[in-house]
Amino acid sequence: MPYTNPFTTAQSQLDEAAARLGLDEATHELLRWPQLELKVTLPVEMDDGRIKIFHGYRVQYNGARGPTKGGLRWHSGKGGMDTVRALAAWMTWKTAVVDIPLGGGKGGITCNPKELSDREKQRLARAYMRAVAKILAVSKDVPAPDVYTTPQIMAWMMDEYETLMGEHHPGVITGKPIPLGGSEGRGDATARGGVIILREAAKALGVDLNGKSMAIQGFGNAGQFAALLGHQILGLKLVAASDSRGGIYNAEGLDPRKVVDYKLRTGALEGFPEAEPISNADLLELEVTVLFPSALENVITAENAHRIKCRISCELANGPTTPAADEILHQKNILVLPDFLANAGGVTVSYFEQVQNTYNYYWPIDMVHERLDEKMTRAFEGVYEMTQREKVNMRQAAYLVAVARVAEACKLRGWV
Ligand code: NAD
Repeated sequence: MPYTNPFTTAQSQLDEAAARLGLDEATHELLRWPQLELKVTLPVEMDDGRIKIFHGYRVQYNGARGPTKGGLRWHSGKGGMDTVRALAAWMTWKTAVVDIPLGGGKGGITCNPKELSDREKQRLARAYMRAVAKILAVSKDVPAPDVYTTPQIMAWMMDEYETLMGEHHPGVITGKPIPLGGSEGRGDATARGGVIILREAAKALGVDLNGKSMAIQGFGNAGQFAALLGHQILGLKLVAASDSRGGIYNAEGLDPRKVVDYKLRTGALEGFPEAEPISNADLLELEVTVLFPSALENVITAENAHRIKCRISCELANGPTTPAADEILHQKNILVLPDFLANAGGVTVSYFEQVQNTYNYYWPIDMVHERLDEKMTRAFEGVYEMTQREKVNMRQAAYLVAVARVAEACKLRGWV
């Protein structure tokens, strides 16, 4: 498959929104680029005594609406800084579309975490934090988990930051374990938010999802909780799931709890009893009511888009659909619930975590769920209303809502 640079995708999506909004040239150009980028080189001691050099990134895309916020990805994929830039841009639109007072950022380290021991991961996490701490703070920029980073990694980073500063700063990083100031409900927040958006979309379309099928590509934090909550809240039937090694399929339905337990126990989906193997590519093309792309970017492209047969694609992954594929899905009348709306539950509860850390007073889980539901439902309504008013698809509408908010903040600050 030809490589699509995710930052080119992010810029072209913005360009389209800027044209529709009639943004002036300076505002448009400002929003096409990150405000600050840091590239760090990290020497880290491996367990065998060798020193290995890692490359790390942190991008603060736009902070007009508040401190930048965005996850840290540990991945060996190509893209490096451009992938981080794209993810940071999408974070900017994401915090704006759910209307939380934050900007967008993102970071990462090029590495293969599956080849690292826990001690090596800890040394890498601490080395990264030492290198980027100078641009982080509750009032500047706050990281969180993303692909292959965990609450444990957030805990090591928070500890390193607090050691450097000589005082407590739990709000400098979110997605922490609960005993260290993590929020109730952060673990499943990304998928829960997606399921709420899906619930509202089904209502708007007049589609009853109870008993209908779902397939999930990517079975980590986002994918596993989508399986559990899609079933529990909406009555969806899981028929297929996949991870980096391949997938499993059973048209009669798979028990989501058993599949999640199996994945957690064995580290993979392959070999799950009562299911046949399916490739990642074939999973995407299944005839299902709901597809949850929940792995990485650029999986639905112009090459396979015309073979996609779901009714709704609920994008928990960032950037799974290229712009050319988007157009094809739209023509096929497939409703795409765009990434930065559908997966905004994670950053919303991360924001709740920051708020609780600042007050040093913690909310019960029901309150987190209620406030998340309220934020996501309102965000859906705003975007859906825009689709009706401007006769555009959901992604275009989400861009119009988000970009207008960020542009307004830049103007109010007198930047443009
Ligand atoms: P994770 O590390 O918990 O899980 C990633 C999963 O994707 C793993 O199951 C892995 O095996 C699978 N995977 C990797 N490469 C794959 C491939 N080529 N094909 C199929 N599966 C593959 O990560 P996550 O936190 O669940 O993130 C998944 C996606 O959701 C990413 O795009 C991330 O940016 C996005 N996202 C996550 C959050 C969050 O709060 N965790 C929030 C918003 C968006």
